[in-house]
Amino acid sequence: MTNSGNSRRRFIQHSVGGLVVSASLASPETAAVSADGAVRIANPVSGDVLRTAGRLSADGMHLFEQERPIPVAGKADVLVCGAGPAGVAAALAAARTGVSVQLIEVAGCLGGVWTAGLLTKILDSENKSGIMVELLREFSNRGSEVARQTRGTVYDPEIAKLVLEELCVKAGVRIRLHTRLVGAVTDERNRVVAVLTESRNGREAWQAERFVDCSGDGDLAAHAGCRFDVGVGAECTCQPMSMLALLTGVDPQEIGPYIRESGSAAKSRLLGLMEEHGIAPSYRAPTLRHLHSGIYSLMTNHEYGVSAFDADAITAATLRARREIHEIVDGLRKVGGPWQNLSVVATAEQIGVREGRRIRGRYAITAEDLATGLRHEQAVCTARFPIDVHALAADGNKEVDRNFRENGSKPYNIPYPALVAADVDGLLMAGRCISGDFIAHSSYRVTGNSVPMGEAAGRAAAVSVQQNVMPHELDWNAVKSQ
Ligand SMILES: Cc1cc2nc3c(=O)[nH]c(=O)nc-3n(C[C@H](O)[C@H](O)[C@H](O)COP(=O)(O)OP(=O)(O)OC[C@H]3O[C@@H](n4cnc5c(N)ncnc54)[C@H](O)[C@@H]3O)c2cc1C
Repeated sequence: MTNSGNSRRRFIQHSVGGLVVSASLASPETAAVSADGAVRIANPVSGDVLRTAGRLSADGMHLFEQERPIPVAGKADVLVCGAGPAGVAAALAAARTGVSVQLIEVAGCLGGVWTAGLLTKILDSENKSGIMVELLREFSNRGSEVARQTRGTVYDPEIAKLVLEELCVKAGVRIRLHTRLVGAVTDERNRVVAVLTESRNGREAWQAERFVDCSGDGDLAAHAGCRFDVGVGAECTCQPMSMLALLTGVDPQEIGPYIRESGSAAKSRLLGLMEEHGIAPSYRAPTLRHLHSGIYSLMTNHEYGVSAFDADAITAATLRARREIHEIVDGLRKVGGPWQNLSVVATAEQIGVREGRRIRGRYAITAEDLATGLRHEQAVCTARFPIDVHALAADGNKEVDRNFRENGSKPYNIPYPALVAADVDGLLMAGRCISGDFIAHSSYRVTGNSVPMGEAAGRAAAVSVQQNVMPHELDWNAVKSQ
């Protein structure tokens, strides 16, 4: 270790008014100023840690970061945050329209809840066109017999990962995984002009002409200062989170009646079997799907009252959920017979989040729109999935809260303006963070709707760059006919 190395490691120093938390960002020899003035800091190979200079307040409750140059990691016409079903569709649509696209994803794969969440079922896709049809075809053709029989709606998450990566690479989408968006910058015209991320590269800035928030939780829009709504009622109560798992060790012929694709009674049959043997799952409509060759997915967990914005609460829910899945599988194994070799292949790396922020857009889809079957002149797609609010608290039926279904729903349009942020310019949303109320969200959130929303938002973002107008100045019918 050199002297300068030693001094760099002296990152805790006392000073007047607080604590200096860091001495330097990087070795002088690893920092370089590029032609456009951005400071690029190469990943240190010497074992140095990139640290932020800062001062801890006297009361020890806050840390003031020192101003520092953030390297601009990339510039694109369209930047998409979040590579779930909505984000992948947005990135593909924008790239295929002929603009440069940067896709930023915090997980280590594309697909969001489809892959990192181990979902395995696409709902409300049957009446869709475009990228949704293309994905179903790929999932079916490259998947198992089950995938083919279900026209790609029951898919293998590993096939999905590969298909999504291949399509994005082929379309020329620049992909950055393992990178979390942590900030957004607007200019004096109220346009989003840059976002900030954190990754193994440290803190980076990304510039783009247009942005699409497909983070599910509305992270980009919230950082840009957009208004949003969360959950229902004064407590902002949200639908429960759920962890999914992949299982193996049972013969599909022997447990056929418990497999969801055998009919809707499969859920109550499986619940009956569990309860008969003293297993009380936190979600009382257990769903077991056979994917292929004795590999199954299981959804039988609810984590009630967990905020999507509280990392400690999500951590605790994740640990509880994983333990519950293993306990349930242990319990089913003790049933014996065809279940005696049941075991867990994998639990989802990401617990499934049903609800985050609903960003205020230029149209808000409401329960009334579902009840009347909204027809809108700028319809992006038609949603047919019913109102689906899972039990909000553990003291209910631990299944579905039917109170929210009182006014019913008919097929309804998702209007383009619901994808356009109301409070800043140059920002669209797609997926579960679009503009709508609690009840409407419980229906349009499913992935058969997220994909066409993403496709529309990505295409509109690209066209708005090409025509040098803001997304809210576009008419969806003109965009779609291009
Ligand atoms: C347990 C559960 C079961 C469900 N069952 C079904 C079902 O059977 N069928 C169905 O169609 N739908 C189902 N849904 C609903 C559906 O999964 C979601 O509403 C859907 O995933 C929405 O897609 P999305 O692309 O908006 O969000 P997501 O799939 O959540 O994707 C968001 C992506 O953004 C990334 N991200 C988030 N924040 C950041 C950030 N700050 N920086 C970078 N990346 C970020 C995430 O890692 C993720 O990849 C279910 C949901 C849950 C939770």
